[in-house]
Amino acid sequence: MKWSVDKLNTIRFSATIITLIGLALLSLLSLLRLQDTTRQVRQARQTLLQTEILISLLKDAETGQRGYLLTGEEKYLQPYYRALSIIDNELDELAYFIQNDSYHQTQFTELQALTQAKLSELEQTIELRRNNQLQSALAIVKTAQGDQLMEQIRETSDAIKAEQQVLLEQRSIYEQQSTFYTTYLTLGSVALQILLITGIILHLNKETQNLQYSKAELSQSEERYRSLVTATAQVVWIADRSGLLLTISPIWQTITGQSEQDAKGWGWLSAIDSDDQHEVRQKWQIALSQQQLYEAECRVCSTDKSCRYFLVRGVPVLRADNSVREWIGTYVDITERKQAEQALKEARDALEVKVQERTKKLAEINLELQAEIRERQQIEYKLEQFATSLQHSNQELEQFAYVASHDLQEPLRTVASYTQLLAKKYEGKLDEKADKYINYVVDGATRMQQLINDLLLYSRVGKQSLNLTLVDCNQLIHQVCSLLNIVIDESHATIKVNPLPEVLVDPSHFAKLFQNLISNAIKYRGNDPPKIEITAHRTEREWLFLVQDNGIGIEPQYAERIFIIFQRLHTRREYSGTGIGLAICKKIVELHKGRIWVESQLGHGATFYISLPYPIQA
Ligand code: ADP
Repeated sequence: MKWSVDKLNTIRFSATIITLIGLALLSLLSLLRLQDTTRQVRQARQTLLQTEILISLLKDAETGQRGYLLTGEEKYLQPYYRALSIIDNELDELAYFIQNDSYHQTQFTELQALTQAKLSELEQTIELRRNNQLQSALAIVKTAQGDQLMEQIRETSDAIKAEQQVLLEQRSIYEQQSTFYTTYLTLGSVALQILLITGIILHLNKETQNLQYSKAELSQSEERYRSLVTATAQVVWIADRSGLLLTISPIWQTITGQSEQDAKGWGWLSAIDSDDQHEVRQKWQIALSQQQLYEAECRVCSTDKSCRYFLVRGVPVLRADNSVREWIGTYVDITERKQAEQALKEARDALEVKVQERTKKLAEINLELQAEIRERQQIEYKLEQFATSLQHSNQELEQFAYVASHDLQEPLRTVASYTQLLAKKYEGKLDEKADKYINYVVDGATRMQQLINDLLLYSRVGKQSLNLTLVDCNQLIHQVCSLLNIVIDESHATIKVNPLPEVLVDPSHFAKLFQNLISNAIKYRGNDPPKIEITAHRTEREWLFLVQDNGIGIEPQYAERIFIIFQRLHTRREYSGTGIGLAICKKIVELHKGRIWVESQLGHGATFYISLPYPIQA
């Protein structure tokens, strides 16, 4: 819990006052008690003295009686009469002093009775002597009744005195203690009171100083604030708690032409554009009723009717009890911001129009595109149908080629063998022309056989399902080289085989693939003996095989064409061949879901690339 300074001061002040009152009460009580004790001591002393006086008076009376009895002269009775005249008073005094001591009451009554008895005895004897009855008086004296009475009086008064002596001693001790206690308590209390009062005075001094300082600060701050209001380029205003304008900075007059006097109360409202007045008044009244921030945007106009946009804000200044003391606020010129907003709005509107136009155009394009897509879909559908029919006719063609090649093989073999027989038997026996024609026929038949074999091979690839086996390519190349042994020897070719991987492929197909590539590399050699290098690299997703040669090379523009069946770049006279080898290679690689391509420059050898996905999917 947080205590306010005022509250703390009140508590401190109250505590000090209570302490002071407490100390004063204690001192008073102590003093009263001391007074009482002193009174009791004095009483005891008086009782003792009074008892003494009584005894002394009785003695005086008795001495007077004796003298009178002996002489009969009245002058001896003077002590008696003096004692008689004051003894009652002295008894009353004694009664007064012991009235609070209940245990002395009986003794006092007894003493009083004894005194009266003694006085009676004295009076009786004096009267007898006065009446000349000396003997009778002496007889009474001789009875020693008077002495006994005197003795009893002495005893009783001694008892009272002894009691009073004890009381006196006790009360004296108590009085000393009380005096001591009271003195120190009073001194302590006075010292403490002096301290507290000094503290209060110092505190009050400080508070007064603080108050004066705060007052000075406040007046300085007010002065500063007034200067600020006057000097600032912004409009600053102050209104009373009910919302009536009290003061407004001079710049208001520059902006509106309205003097501070005119603006007071609700006068300022007439400087607000008439279209904005209702809203401004409403917002101001809501802020006043709810004691919350007042904020409004409005046009403030000058006498020449030119207006500028202002942001008006006002906050309530609260007292300590949270009630509103006054309102303070500002007018900030936001004309430029408003203009920028307006420009932005116009730009947005223009953009909106453009967007709508674009959207419309897009919708039209979309419609066109949809129409185009439909058209394309129809074309694709037709293409698909065409591709299907093409596939069918291809299959039929392949079937036809296969059947035709197969069926042609037999008669062709007959033609070739008989032509060879014919050449053997009749060579040199007929004329020169006949020999030449026979050679043409033999050559044609041999080429046709070669062509048909290759065609059959091409047709067979893909006819049966792949016999996928894990093949060690090093061994496979070794076997292929053995098959091509004669050509390799004749051409003095060197074949470098770098370490090759094991791959999952159809071994007969792959043997044919490498056989074609190696025999081509030898066939299309340049002037130097062929140098062939076979390499394999493993990439992230595939195996890449390279068959590199130093042959005549290929012009890059033919790089794709050579993989099409029957496509050759040379005449038969230059290089023998059917133009089917690379087409077979492509078919084999594609059956294994791979790719084959060549990179070459004419006269700079060729590199054939085969990529096989890893692992190869059947
Ligand atoms: P063929 O060798 O029977 O003519 P291919 O299909 O094997 O048929 O080759 C097609 C053509 O590609 C060949 O005629 C040849 O011009 C060219 N060719 C193939 N391999 C090579 C090579 N290693 N170097 C240069 N040209 C080649």
